[in-house]
Amino acid sequence: TPGVLEVITGPMFSGKSEELIRRLKRARIARQRVACFKPDIDLRYHRTAIASHSDQTHEADTVRTVEDLRAALATRLDEIEVIGVDEVQFLSGEIIPLALELVAMGKRVLMAGLDTTFANEPFGPVPNLMALADKVTKLSAVCMVCGQPAIHTQRLGQSQELVVVGAAGLYEARCRAHFSPHIDEH
Ligand code: ADP
Repeated sequence: TPGVLEVITGPMFSGKSEELIRRLKRARIARQRVACFKPDIDLRYHRTAIASHSDQTHEADTVRTVEDLRAALATRLDEIEVIGVDEVQFLSGEIIPLALELVAMGKRVLMAGLDTTFANEPFGPVPNLMALADKVTKLSAVCMVCGQPAIHTQRLGQSQELVVVGAAGLYEARCRAHFSPHIDEH
């Protein structure tokens, strides 16, 4: 079978993890062998699953770098048919040639991640992956100000750190009208 690259993107709370988990579970129902990964950027936790904000989970291996991901796959590449990666915006651009290699080997590659930062800049390798994908699913969330479809991730509060992980209440989904690339002091 030919390989395929599927990208699932959109702001925080748009259901990217849910959609990734849904596709991985369906692949398993079809008796395909699945591997799932997530970058380990938050050293406070060692998660062995990806989880959605709606508490759905799928087991996953954490990897620090794309090289780790490559190494984790190497030993079982013959059997794995579907490869999922969540939070792919935190991986380096090296994920792009790896994704294309896997597709060329006939794998189904599912990549979920944010397309823009809270400053409204392209986020890591995601825009490039979108350009190279067979299929792009861009999800919207619900704007927390007005209830309209939201394509942006609004940063709340004071911290100047570039990446703040696992900090609940620091971000919310916003539509174009209610998004500001500056931190919203609520
Ligand atoms: P993502 O991976 O895109 O951050 P998740 O799949 O983790 O999204 O979570 C999606 C879930 O988040 C929704 O099904 C819903 O239960 C919850 N949720 C919380 N806030 C919002 C919001 N503003 N818009 C949509 N869903 C929200």
